[in-house]
Amino acid sequence: MASGYEDKIMSPSVWHPRDTTEAWTFKKLLDSDAIYVAGGTLLRTQWESGLAAVPKHLIDLSSIPGLTGIEKKEDSLAIGALTTLGQCRKDPDVLQHSPLLVEAVRSIAASSVRNLATIGGNIVSRVGDSLPVFIVCQAEFEWNTGLSPMTEDASEWVERLQVQLPKASHLLTRVHLPLFRETDLVPKRFGAFHKVGRREAFTPSLVTVAINGGMKPDGKIADIRIAVGGGQTIPHRLVAVEKILKGQIPNRELLGEAYHAVMNGYRPKSDPFATDDYRKKTAANLIITEIWKTYSEWADGGREPDGAY
Ligand SMILES: Cc1cc2nc3c(=O)[nH]c(=O)nc-3n(C[C@H](O)[C@H](O)[C@H](O)COP(=O)(O)OP(=O)(O)OC[C@H]3O[C@@H](n4cnc5c(N)ncnc54)[C@H](O)[C@@H]3O)c2cc1C
Repeated sequence: MASGYEDKIMSPSVWHPRDTTEAWTFKKLLDSDAIYVAGGTLLRTQWESGLAAVPKHLIDLSSIPGLTGIEKKEDSLAIGALTTLGQCRKDPDVLQHSPLLVEAVRSIAASSVRNLATIGGNIVSRVGDSLPVFIVCQAEFEWNTGLSPMTEDASEWVERLQVQLPKASHLLTRVHLPLFRETDLVPKRFGAFHKVGRREAFTPSLVTVAINGGMKPDGKIADIRIAVGGGQTIPHRLVAVEKILKGQIPNRELLGEAYHAVMNGYRPKSDPFATDDYRKKTAANLIITEIWKTYSEWADGGREPDGAY
């Protein structure tokens, strides 16, 4: 006997647009009766759990050619929005140039889900674990908005999400992920992605942290971006912490100041699994440890530098 959910899932009309403009037009015409579907992994979970109703129309993005695959350009990777998390994890260019993205994608679900789930769906979900990485790597999201294509910096996009929902008709087509290279002025690049959940693997996040920075020849931090998320928290940058660290050589006092700025700047959403305070302390410890580790390795081949801490 069919369950209520199966009855409902049989009912929607499924549209197969030939290109992104046709998809956008379907969405504009059908409005809230329709939803874009990529891998369907998140939507299916929402429908099955009753968190969202199955709409009358599904707009299947997988029928659109040209939205999958990863292309290496001179200074960036162009990742099609329909590229699966599984493809991202194994792509040779992503493996070589973006260990942070590999680490983030590796931490999401299990391979059966990753082989269906797309990078676009992870981003548009607004709480996907890949988002902090895109924020700190200054990725740009390319959208079909019906008029001309629109490109928006990842951190500006998430900032706007704090106050307004994304436009449901905007269709994410591509992610441009800049490549960071070591230079004479910034001879060391460093970065990290951490996800803390309630178990070691196959777990929703409680806290996520991403860091992307560069160090000058004298050990001063040349540039740094830090983003935090986890659970239902829309990831965001910790601009005040970045300001404290930028241009400075890490020492005990500076890291203490940065620790307090993380506690003040991180705005995690509460849920029954972990308190705000736990999440804040976890994020602060992860961030400070990462900076400390990076600097001590840089300064003294892994040993603690004289009097620095
Ligand atoms: C068992 C399980 C475990 C999971 N674990 C994790 C986890 O650890 N971390 C995590 O981040 N997520 C997790 N997820 C959630 C989900 O799998 C991922 O977020 C996934 O990347 C969503 O991609 P999708 O293609 O399946 O999106 P879909 O379900 O197809 O769509 C998700 C949302 O994005 C919209 N959308 C999709 N593509 C586009 C586009 N190109 N343009 C505009 N809108 C679009 C859809 O309309 C929908 O609102 C898990 C899911 C399951 C089922």
